[in-house]
Amino acid sequence: AKRSGRNDFRFYSKDLTVRAQERLTLESDLRHALERGELALHYQPKVLLGSGAMVGCEALLRWAHPRLGMVPPDQFIPVAEDSGLINELGAWVLRESCLTAVVWNAAAALPRKVAVNLSVRQIQVPGLVAQVQGILAETHCQPQWLEFEITESLLLDEDGLVVNALQALRDMGVTIAIDDFGTGYSALSYLARFPIDTLKIDRSFIHSATTDHFRAELVRAILSIARCLNQQVVAEGVETRVQADFLAAEGCQLAQGYLFSKAVPREQLLAMSDACLAL
Ligand code: C2E
Ligand code: CA
Ligand code: CA
Ligand code: CA
Repeated sequence: AKRSGRNDFRFYSKDLTVRAQERLTLESDLRHALERGELALHYQPKVLLGSGAMVGCEALLRWAHPRLGMVPPDQFIPVAEDSGLINELGAWVLRESCLTAVVWNAAAALPRKVAVNLSVRQIQVPGLVAQVQGILAETHCQPQWLEFEITESLLLDEDGLVVNALQALRDMGVTIAIDDFGTGYSALSYLARFPIDTLKIDRSFIHSATTDHFRAELVRAILSIARCLNQQVVAEGVETRVQADFLAAEGCQLAQGYLFSKAVPREQLLAMSDACLAL
């Protein structure tokens, strides 16, 4: 038993070493990815469930690695966060997103929002608010065309820095959404204390809401909390007509998911933005 225990340990530690090396390689590759033009932003439409009209989109990073092919953001975002690169990447994402918002809104009757994911690491850096202000001014992007998506973990804000930053962004006219809502640990009291405009229901709830009564009840509960707090709701990961119909019947107004469109390059977003999706 002792021997096999040691073997297990060696196997485990080798595995860890390999993983640490892969991570280091990924980190140094990521450092050059921006300047080499390997990164791109794609945009996934958000639609009104009633009409299929596009009212916004979410900017999602794509990395075409020269050797590894497409590296999913779930793999490289944590690397960027741990190494501090996320701040440089985040600034680039924000500038690109603002440029898209400007072009997209040029001919639109109603404001179309571009939502940008914001890491905990980014909001912890002093000067984020000034940076956002600078990029908005430089790109001529109106603040109401921009939304930030943050995760519930950001709401565990003991020193009050996050709430201050969010409040300052909101005072500028930028809106704030809670991403992956329902998967984190946030107490309901946080929801009322933080300046939040939108709840995005995590796709794990949407996925099973039409087959699992308990999940359906949870979705109804989230919708009614949002109504009480005067917050908008976006259902994430809507893949089927049945899911979309359920959500519309429960009073959910906005949705995002493969049923409507995956994330597409800017030109494609602009080309399809007057069409009604999945009607
Ligand atoms: P997220 O913010 O929750 O983004 C939604 C993810 O769900 C995206 O994955 C999107 O492509 C995927 N998705 C959309 N509709 C459907 C659907 O109907 N079914 C399924 N199964 N999936 C759907 P993606 O692009 O791989 O991004 C993964 C995560 O990486 C994002 O999760 C976000 O946390 C992070 N991320 C992506 N871009 C950025 C960025 O620019 N900055 C930061 N900080 N994080 C980013
Ligand atoms: Ca998001
Ligand atoms: Ca999400
Ligand atoms: Ca996520």
